[in-house]
Amino acid sequence: MSLSRSGRTPRTGSRVVRASSCTTAAWYWVCSTAINFGAQRAAAAWRHLEDCDLCARYCRVNRHETFAGAVCGTGERAVVASYGPHQGEGNCLSGWAGSGTIFFSWCNLRCLFCQNWDISQKGLGREVEPAELAAMMLALQAQGYHNITLVSPSHVVAQVVAAVEIVARGGLRLPLVYNTGGYDSPEALARLDGIIDIYVPDMKYGTPRSHANSPRCATMSRPIAWRWGRCIARWGTSC
Ligand code: SF4
Repeated sequence: MSLSRSGRTPRTGSRVVRASSCTTAAWYWVCSTAINFGAQRAAAAWRHLEDCDLCARYCRVNRHETFAGAVCGTGERAVVASYGPHQGEGNCLSGWAGSGTIFFSWCNLRCLFCQNWDISQKGLGREVEPAELAAMMLALQAQGYHNITLVSPSHVVAQVVAAVEIVARGGLRLPLVYNTGGYDSPEALARLDGIIDIYVPDMKYGTPRSHANSPRCATMSRPIAWRWGRCIARWGTSC
């Protein structure tokens, strides 16, 4: 059993724990259990890096040792291009105060038409440890944005879960938005269950012909999208 971030009714699989709300022995026991549960989830997600199946590329690379052979070009640490306010995700996410957005570098899709090519395929950005990623989330919350939006997070699911395990104890109250290119693996989505509040998957390719440089992406992305029965399907740029 775990506590929600608001400290209200426990929700199975929730990431949310506020240690400061543990005022009685019973609550302390519940919170400790939830914290341990969060740590176990982070450790379980981290283990996927040993034989990476965290997106539908299934490279099976040991990312603790190398990023050679990883289509996403990312090893053990996530690379962040930037973080800050974003007003371009549609009104339902940006609202009036904006979305607190973290843009991850590299990408598992490698689209020929990518508008952020220097970020997604040249890896422009800086490596961060999970603790620094957690600090970015808390900094965005402190600036008053409506949510934390993770942009292109498919290849850094383990690092995101590790950061969330830290911020859950640090008092993160905002919803987490998973803004993905849509080429995620069921294994990764299982690790995110109960952690992500809003899914925003792009449907990049409808047929193999529409993605000539990697037909497998097109073949796989449609059934993956269907699998996300409770996700928000986004077509184009508006939500
Ligand atoms: S996240 Fe995807 S692209 Fe990156 S190493 Fe793992 S399976 Fe390959």
